[in-house]
Amino acid sequence: MPDLSRYFDHSATTPVAPEVLQAMQPFYAERFGNPSSLHQWGQEAEAAVEMARQRVASLLGCLPEEILFTSGATESNNLGLRGLARIKLRTEGKQHLLTTPVEHPSVLNTLRDLEAHEGFELELLPIDAYGRVSPDEVATRLRPETALVSIIYASNEIGSVNPIAEIGEVCRQASVPFHTDAVQAVNYLPMDVNALQVDMLPLSAHKFYGPKGIGILYHRNDLGLEAVQTGGGQERQLRAGTHNVPSIVGLAHALSLARERSEEHATKYRQWRDQIIAEILDRLTDVRLTGHPTARLPNHISFALRAVDSNALLAALDLAGFACSSGSACKAGMPEPSRVLQAIGLEPEWSLGALRITLGASNDEASIRDLIESLVEIVPRVRATSAQDQG
Ligand code: PMP
Repeated sequence: MPDLSRYFDHSATTPVAPEVLQAMQPFYAERFGNPSSLHQWGQEAEAAVEMARQRVASLLGCLPEEILFTSGATESNNLGLRGLARIKLRTEGKQHLLTTPVEHPSVLNTLRDLEAHEGFELELLPIDAYGRVSPDEVATRLRPETALVSIIYASNEIGSVNPIAEIGEVCRQASVPFHTDAVQAVNYLPMDVNALQVDMLPLSAHKFYGPKGIGILYHRNDLGLEAVQTGGGQERQLRAGTHNVPSIVGLAHALSLARERSEEHATKYRQWRDQIIAEILDRLTDVRLTGHPTARLPNHISFALRAVDSNALLAALDLAGFACSSGSACKAGMPEPSRVLQAIGLEPEWSLGALRITLGASNDEASIRDLIESLVEIVPRVRATSAQDQG
């Protein structure tokens, strides 16, 4: 088994916390009922699902009926964006969708699909050099026919945090529904949906030490939303399919732990983050930090390294036992600069050398030091090989 303390890819996924696993366990073989069944087995499972819903709702400051359980944020984004956009077009003739070029593909490709096939017009907001959106820009681009606005809370790729509460205020004043992808923000940033003035918010449990394949969509109850998936009448007719009871229980438990530990973790990771950034910028040449230096996730470090092949770097780091990421799906053999790095204006010479390091519960002082020392040794070596390959 690789050394867990060298796992630096917590934005991709996290291990399930032992307490969470324990809370889920009884719901596989002992308390296995289907919450839709009327007998005692079903009632017991239904009670567990409703308890989990209440727990999630109280952590986000909303009503239990405003929480839908889904298979994860990809599904939540599809359900929320498609379900709301279609209603807005049909009942109010609104066809304008406003988003950013730096959304996760589960948002951007969903909105693009609505534009390509369902008669919507998609507008991309300008972003600054850190990939952030200004509330004023949102205000100037809202139109009477705007069906919804979707802006990522914190970037999975470059860690920058958007001023979501201020953007929420702008949208609320104009009575335009506001969706924010909070998948990466949930461990560290404010999550009270009323203070944020958001109308829809997806989460995926595996990003906060919960199981994979389970998520939620918060949706304000006066929003109006229609199902995108046909089937049974689960989740108030909005999300058909038998509930994944063990995972729902696990999600609620994991969210509760994540919110409890939020401050403590943020403080610890922020220190390590700033140490890694400072040392790498100081000790390596031709390296830039991508994303905002301070308005960024406490656990997120992302660099662009000039004339370095990102895949070769990740392979060399892997060989040394370090799990890092380039921050985007960049396939071996046919490297394409990331859409997000292009959007913030990085030339391919830099954007093909992306490196993302995301901290979490697996890491410690010693592994942080080892990572820094290894990067200082490995990056120049990979750069030399990348230059040879090109020459
Ligand atoms: N949004 C963001 C910002 C993400 O980072 C991810 C996961 N990479 C998703 C949405 C999708 O989550 P999932 O793959 O769990 O559906």
